[in-house]
Amino acid sequence: MNLLDGVASHEEGMMDVPSDKNLFEMNDVHKEFVRGKKVSHVLRGVNLSIKVGEIVALVGESGSGKSTVARTIMRLYTPDQGEMRFEGRDVTKIRGGALKSYRNKVQMVFQDPFSSLNPTHSVGTIMERSLPSGLKKLTKAKRDVLCGNALEKVGLSPPSNFLMQYPHELSGGQRQRVALARSLAASPKLVLADEPVSMLDVSLRLGVLNLMLALNEQYNIAYLYITHDLASARYVATKVVVMYAGEIIEEGSAEEIIEHAQHPYTQLLIQASPDPHRRGIGELDEAIFTGEPPDLSLDIQGCPFQFRCAHVMAKCRSDRPKRQEVSDGHFLNCHLYS
Ligand code: SF4
Repeated sequence: MNLLDGVASHEEGMMDVPSDKNLFEMNDVHKEFVRGKKVSHVLRGVNLSIKVGEIVALVGESGSGKSTVARTIMRLYTPDQGEMRFEGRDVTKIRGGALKSYRNKVQMVFQDPFSSLNPTHSVGTIMERSLPSGLKKLTKAKRDVLCGNALEKVGLSPPSNFLMQYPHELSGGQRQRVALARSLAASPKLVLADEPVSMLDVSLRLGVLNLMLALNEQYNIAYLYITHDLASARYVATKVVVMYAGEIIEEGSAEEIIEHAQHPYTQLLIQASPDPHRRGIGELDEAIFTGEPPDLSLDIQGCPFQFRCAHVMAKCRSDRPKRQEVSDGHFLNCHLYS
């Protein structure tokens, strides 16, 4: 079913893929940023796959490279090395019309709904501007119906109450719903949600997460849900991917990762997330909490987590751990399991 009730059509050049196949793939992607003489290796060989209609949580602390992954998928950045495929097609370096078409199918929702919505535009104008170019040629009345439909899908009803309003007149939760409605206007197949609830009041977060789940169920939209919060990752995602210092270090089904995390960093994240049934942070091994993520401009030999890991061995300081499958669909990079 089309999100805009049959009016928006899939762009030419993008094929429907079976639901068990990868909608999106990122293979061995590297990205560096140069500032003066300093080169930061922000993505170091990232592999990521998202199936049709799948919700994947990308989890890690600030500076791990999560947002750079999203911006690279969106092609706001071009990978320095590696390849990205969408619906089987290489999108690593596409430009012009092909890039525009791709960006209609892959939309992004940012962390701060206030700064991501133009404060000088009404909700109606914001929505109209997000329509694909083909739909912008419709009459004003039809465009209003489309924008209204998208607002209703995210629970802003009746839409006539919102189309004339400006972002500052809305609550934080309503602003993030407008941001979601805007992302839906092009009937996307993949939405990159970068910490979409972290700036909302706790009371509003569940509503936005439930809305994402409802849209996934109704329209089979896949999400890359970026967060530092494992509890919300478990709530929305079927797969959890853990990132540290520009690398994917553990990956598996949400249940497997939360219940049977093997990588010391993932275990740290789980122990640091609030859970009344678990012992408090104060009782945990102090050693694992010391240290900070490594400087990404350094040429790190061995495991990137070696500076904080309570289990570090000589091998960890010399050899980079390779990705291995420890149980069905559960992958990690750690010498403890070599
Ligand atoms: S490879 Fe070594 S340093 Fe890295 S997480 Fe495993 S045990 Fe710790």
